[in-house]
Amino acid sequence: MNINALVRKNVQALQPYSSARDEYKDASADMVFIDANENPNNTGLNRYPDPQQHLVKEILADKKGLNINQILLGNGSDEVLDLLFRAFCEPGQDKVITLPPTYGMYNVLANINNTSVIPITLQADFQPNVSAILAAQDTTTKILFLCSPNNPTANSFNANAIEKLVKNFKGIVVIDEAYIDFSSQESWVSRLEEFRNLIVTQTLSKAYGLAGIRLGICYASPEIIAVLQKIKPPYNVNQLTQNTAVKGLLEEEKVKLQVADILRERSLVAEALRTIAFVEEVYPSDANFLLVKVDNATGRYEQLLNKGIVVRNRTKEPLCGNCLRFTIGTAYENNILIKALKSVS
Ligand SMILES: *Cc1c(COP(=O)(O)O)cnc(C)c1O
Repeated sequence: MNINALVRKNVQALQPYSSARDEYKDASADMVFIDANENPNNTGLNRYPDPQQHLVKEILADKKGLNINQILLGNGSDEVLDLLFRAFCEPGQDKVITLPPTYGMYNVLANINNTSVIPITLQADFQPNVSAILAAQDTTTKILFLCSPNNPTANSFNANAIEKLVKNFKGIVVIDEAYIDFSSQESWVSRLEEFRNLIVTQTLSKAYGLAGIRLGICYASPEIIAVLQKIKPPYNVNQLTQNTAVKGLLEEEKVKLQVADILRERSLVAEALRTIAFVEEVYPSDANFLLVKVDNATGRYEQLLNKGIVVRNRTKEPLCGNCLRFTIGTAYENNILIKALKSVS
């Protein structure tokens, strides 16, 4: 597959912007840096951050068995997703395919980038309709967004279905793995060498407990990363974020323990929900939240809100009539939720 042929013409022609720190980066501490109009007084933050985030990328590359030229970092995965539109979708002309019910940002970013969306609703079992997706593609469908585990349905897509799509879709296939650390499925990062059109996005916002720093990760072929490098803002990942990400990524054991806790709590909450009379279905979850069908989602949402509990009402999403989404909280918070549900039934 020729990746470059999928890239917008103006982006193909772009030269990457070269910042001061790009032009001279072999920084040894005793050199005099008077090239970037910074305040010279050391605050620990008076210098521009590394535009290539080498330390963070080296840790990720080591963890995933990749080269750093297969990694791009963004101000959250949301920035990474926005860069994908800007790289591949000619405004007013190209299209993307999404599989509702799914993450709302794909539509938001499509609208901002004047790109139309072809929605191919998931099947009743929340799995992709592979033949309908492949039938919908043409030369203008540049990106297919697969969210697995999917938000808000909480399930992972079948590996066979994903593989068929990656092999037969003629554009870019994005697998959004925001919830992969909670999943029993293997990450598609290990299949990047096989599929040059595959992009896997991950984030430190969920399992790593670092939503506040905004760090999103894009894993892809070096050809795709080189395109995104040309259009990313030079200092899109700030120094505080890089510092905290390095620390957070090195605390993998702590994250594993927290994930194990959350998964245990998920089983307890699911079990308790099934005893509530107005709960009609608790869908299987491969993530840190539960999609739950109740008798009247909007009524139950209001009742919980009155008790100081904020959940997400997904009732307007396709296939999600009368569904609420509950994020798994701490044991303390989950008990409050269960007590509240029992008291309103
Ligand atoms: C939460 C979430 C993200 C995270 O986005 P960030 O910008 O990295 O915080 C990405 N994709 C999905 C499907 C999500 O639910």
